[in-house]
Amino acid sequence: MPFKNLGLTDALLQAIDTEGYTQPTPIQQQSIPHVLAGKDILGCAQTGTGKTAAFALPIIQRLLEHPRPQKKQAKHHERAIRCLVLSPTRELAAQIGASFTNYSAETNLRNTVIFGGVKQGSQTRALRDGIDILVATPGRLIDLIGQGHVDLKSVEIFVLDEADRMLDMGFINDIYRILNYVPDKRQTLLFSATMPQKIQSLADSLLHEPIDVRITPEAPAAENVDQQIYLVEGASKTKLLEHVLEGEDISRVLIFTRTKRRADRLLQDLQWSNIKADVIHADRPQPARERALENFRSGKTPILIASDIAARGLDVDEISHVINFELPQEAEVYVHRIGRTGRAGAKGIAMSFCDVGERLLLDEIETLLGREVPVIQDHPYVSALPRKTKQAEAEPAKPAPLFNTRRPARKRRL
Ligand code: AMP
Repeated sequence: MPFKNLGLTDALLQAIDTEGYTQPTPIQQQSIPHVLAGKDILGCAQTGTGKTAAFALPIIQRLLEHPRPQKKQAKHHERAIRCLVLSPTRELAAQIGASFTNYSAETNLRNTVIFGGVKQGSQTRALRDGIDILVATPGRLIDLIGQGHVDLKSVEIFVLDEADRMLDMGFINDIYRILNYVPDKRQTLLFSATMPQKIQSLADSLLHEPIDVRITPEAPAAENVDQQIYLVEGASKTKLLEHVLEGEDISRVLIFTRTKRRADRLLQDLQWSNIKADVIHADRPQPARERALENFRSGKTPILIASDIAARGLDVDEISHVINFELPQEAEVYVHRIGRTGRAGAKGIAMSFCDVGERLLLDEIETLLGREVPVIQDHPYVSALPRKTKQAEAEPAKPAPLFNTRRPARKRRL
């Protein structure tokens, strides 16, 4: 189905063309006509499915088709925040803002993004100058509401993105607090990668007769991503990683660890071996995170180590490989992680290093996927322990040890 059948105007079709999109993705096909019709949406879809365009394009069109009435004597076009998008992370907020900027380039709509960890001056200036669309993370938004910089009483459309992650990050009270400032009469779009009961309850309290849109996360993973398991002892994981990084044809790789500390430690280990990499996680200062992301995007640092929250929603094209240095505690997070590669029709490779303490997690992942992931035998650090062990069945999974027992010999830096 072409984009023009979804009810988008020529201005938006032009923007889509400029982006190089030829066909709408399933979530776009299913959401755009309903958002244009002013309906509430409960969308179950992960980042990487074209979700941002699924809400941003029709929102822009609605704002253009229903302009605010202007006061007769007004000398200038008076702006007010008419659309509020809440995002759990700064990176995702920045990406959503960039998408709105691109899609509305040929219109007079203005957006801005506000998030914490940086000085607020430029954000409050943008708010003072007047904007139509605000993309924000909850903490900084509440700060700026408290300081009187943000007025949400003209909001007509409210988007809650990555709602499950918002709840995991403890933002539930902040969401309700912010909603106190948003009119009850509004259009609400709620997107979540997973739909546990707590999200269903949130949706029940926020949405009015929503249209259900469900995009199964397994499908893109199965189609475009070549998934591989490496059975390895925890203490050999770093050596295996170095082996893989040297041998594989890797253009851009995102490496996941379970903790921030492990991510830092791994970065140090790679640096000891003269492998250039960077790390992104919530404890790093915002400028360092932005720099790491920029260098990763530009290809200057093609290896990025990440924690789940920081990497969630990262929109970086052409990630050739995702490596799960440690398996995640929740099987669904695995699907999100590997969804960073194989995007927009490209092929990707997802390698998962699995030590004996992680075999149960692997079972859970395979249950979710509905199939076994092939095991790669051809590497020098193969674990002698079988893929499924009695021990793994009996014991809860433990994270890999924090330190390597043997530190690689220091090489001379070039
Ligand atoms: P998102 O799920 O919003 O993070 O989008 C993931 C990526 O897909 C982004 O780089 C978008 O620019 C891209 N994208 C969105 N819609 C389409 C489409 N219809 N065709 C091709 N790429 C798209």
